[in-house]
Amino acid sequence: MSRWTISDHLLEPTILLDVPSTPPPVADLPRAVLIEDEEPLARLLVNYLTRAGFAVEAANDGLTGLQTVRNHGPEIVVLDLGLPGMDGIEVCRNIRTFSDCYILMLTARAEETDTLLGLAAGADDYMTKPFSPRELVARIAALRRRPLKPKETKNSQHVWGSLTVDMDGRDVRWGGEPIELTRTEFDIFAVLVEEPAKVFTREDILHNVWGPSWVGDAHVVDVHVAHIRRKLTDAGGTADTIRSVRGVGYRLGAEQ
Ligand code: CA
Repeated sequence: MSRWTISDHLLEPTILLDVPSTPPPVADLPRAVLIEDEEPLARLLVNYLTRAGFAVEAANDGLTGLQTVRNHGPEIVVLDLGLPGMDGIEVCRNIRTFSDCYILMLTARAEETDTLLGLAAGADDYMTKPFSPRELVARIAALRRRPLKPKETKNSQHVWGSLTVDMDGRDVRWGGEPIELTRTEFDIFAVLVEEPAKVFTREDILHNVWGPSWVGDAHVVDVHVAHIRRKLTDAGGTADTIRSVRGVGYRLGAEQ
């Protein structure tokens, strides 16, 4: 096991000094699982997540990681895409069969195919290495601020033809059949559902779902929308339940 240094990870020393020095009490901490095979990075991230207030379990291969997620039922999974044995994509798909925890994928390259695969497998967000651990913690904080509470003035039940959306129950149905959306997919869909006449830009949707402090790739929205459409059509619905408005963004296209 090699000893890591700060310069290995492009960190300025000030970043390490900029985290709370006293972790909160151990009891009842939110749980996070880190699945990362690069030992120095894993240790660094465990340290940051612990200081950010999580009870952290770490695994350095996909299969162990999957089992750790099963055993610990975390709120957050930080998942490296490139893992020995079962890769991150497969781990992500597996997690999604039993958990709707937030999954933040780590990718080694900025290549679009990697990030798209990760999101397609059910990840909520991704970061490309190298990144600042402080940004990782900020991203996780943004995920955890969700879902936005339904606005009190809005109706909980929405029905358009065969489409039924229950905002409080976070339940979407087509012709009575439930459509299993991930948390992120539901949150994005909910933005459109709450104001069906409005066209939302990608940035509007990101700000509604992740909050105004979120910084990242707005095309994440496109990938999630593609998944929502696929799930709608798989259930017998139509893809244009979410309409693309050319040059602007998206709006609900369900029949009124
Ligand atoms: Ca790796």
